[in-house]
Amino acid sequence: MRRAVFPGSFDPLTNGHLDIIRRSAPLFDEMIVAVLNNLEKHPMFSVEERCAMIREVLPTVDTSDCKMFVESFSGLTAEFAKSRKAGAIVRGIRAVSDYEYELRMALMNRRLEPEIETVFLMAGEEYSYVSSTLMKQVFELGGRVAGLIPELVEERMRAKNSE
Ligand code: ADP
Repeated sequence: MRRAVFPGSFDPLTNGHLDIIRRSAPLFDEMIVAVLNNLEKHPMFSVEERCAMIREVLPTVDTSDCKMFVESFSGLTAEFAKSRKAGAIVRGIRAVSDYEYELRMALMNRRLEPEIETVFLMAGEEYSYVSSTLMKQVFELGGRVAGLIPELVEERMRAKNSE
């Protein structure tokens, strides 16, 4: 049984995240999309809202035979992965700027849990500049983000803005 955890803030889910999920799913039997409940950040969406959006969008993605789960977590990713008996942590790398941070995290996670391997996927070219932060900034300034985030996420962002 090959089980992986794909951890992140997902505030909100983008097509870049979905691309990583679609491409990494065939490598595993089960994957947990793990939404970090980071109390220090001020997220646009609550962790429950983020999980709900991912659960709604996931069925539209071809995840091969990989069984998908969505869970929130707080604290150490390595500890969460161990508690779920996952053998791998999946992360995406966009630019060189991601690399340094991801390398540090992967090395630290390996030190904490030597049995768990971090698996990196290079971002898809068309999404290599897409980040949740950039999507929120462009959206809030009235720019078009269609095609870069799922439609459902765009709707929820619109609803959030008119709250
Ligand atoms: P975090 O706060 O942990 O970086 P994110 O939600 O920003 O959480 O990202 C989760 C994971 O998805 C990270 O490994 C990140 O590099 C990856 N990721 C984010 N956006 C993209 C994208 N457009 N293409 C590929 N990977 C991405």
